[in-house]
Amino acid sequence: MTKPKIWLSSPHMCGKEFEYVKDAFDTNWIAPLGPHVDGFEKDLCNFTQSENAAALSAGTAAIHLALILLDVKAGDEVICQSFTFSASANPIVYQGATPIFVDSEEETWNMCPIQLRKAIEDRISKGKKPKAIIPVHLYGMPAKMNEILAIANEFGIPIIEDAAEGLGSKINEKACGTFGNLGVLSFNGNKIITTSGGGALISNNEEYINKARFLATQARDSAPHYQHSQIGYNYRMSNVCAAIGRGQMTVLQDRVNQRRMNFELYNQHLSGISGITFISEPAGYYSNRWLSTILVNPLHTNGITREDIRIALEKENIESRPLWKPMHMQPIFKQYPYYGNNVSEKLFEQGLCLPSGSNLTKAEHQLVVKTVKNILSK
Ligand SMILES: *Cc1c(COP(=O)(O)O)cnc(C)c1O
Repeated sequence: MTKPKIWLSSPHMCGKEFEYVKDAFDTNWIAPLGPHVDGFEKDLCNFTQSENAAALSAGTAAIHLALILLDVKAGDEVICQSFTFSASANPIVYQGATPIFVDSEEETWNMCPIQLRKAIEDRISKGKKPKAIIPVHLYGMPAKMNEILAIANEFGIPIIEDAAEGLGSKINEKACGTFGNLGVLSFNGNKIITTSGGGALISNNEEYINKARFLATQARDSAPHYQHSQIGYNYRMSNVCAAIGRGQMTVLQDRVNQRRMNFELYNQHLSGISGITFISEPAGYYSNRWLSTILVNPLHTNGITREDIRIALEKENIESRPLWKPMHMQPIFKQYPYYGNNVSEKLFEQGLCLPSGSNLTKAEHQLVVKTVKNILSK
């Protein structure tokens, strides 16, 4: 008999989504625009306190449009956190620009301000000032935005804040996604809330968001016929997907609370074990704890590695995953410049994401804990 699957992070509907979707069908708004798209954008603004939002087909599309809005072109350089999902960096290459990868610091696992400054100064000394900086709030933990912003302002470089994993996270009550010139959200199926697939670009700069909407709908000039004076994209969110999102927005804070509870329980049951450590929140930081992660130091676990734990979980049909493999270690990106100090390499080597869904049951949680404890007691 196969054991029931325990997922890393699966969609968690609340029930209200279907009422909104039914309304989209009843009113025949089955299009990449409509009242739920407008409503979802308002919900996002209310939640994040951003002044403007454009709902898009994906977080990746939001990063791509952000780069275009900041005039990133072929031959330009863009600084990107190395320790992230490839979607943070791919759109830089779509533009024909060069990604410059920067390592993380150990406290939040996100962009290291010291390495960032080094990278900027070195690129400038080599003749090119980077056009943008992309920090990421990995696993929901806010990056050191105040330090990163200070450096960005000093050099006059705009920030695209990749908050795809950080919706609901904040620093001193200010929402992640609202620190940079442009913020990126994702509603992919595995994220804290989902529209089955989707994303958004948020900004206090209304011009940016109006331009993003224009580019996302094939850059149609205002004319009775189809008239184009720029290259456009088909990146808008469907009214049906936005309907799902409107239902999900009614429970977003509950989802954050549930994920934070997952983390608390893992921390409670596993942090006493030799060689297992958890990442904590710096003062004033609030993580949505999108994924609960552990670091496994084999020097203190009798040689048990994160891979041993992953395989033991897999045997129980429990999905877990190593932390993101840094971009500067990826075959497709390794020829690009990198500024770092071995922090993300070590995190990749020792880190594991545990099942973290807001719909994880107590019994599932206990089984994960028991399996991890079992292998570590060998
Ligand atoms: C998911 C994710 C994205 C991309 O979002 P999509 O909606 O899947 O395109 C970008 N950056 C990070 C860090 C992500 O986790």
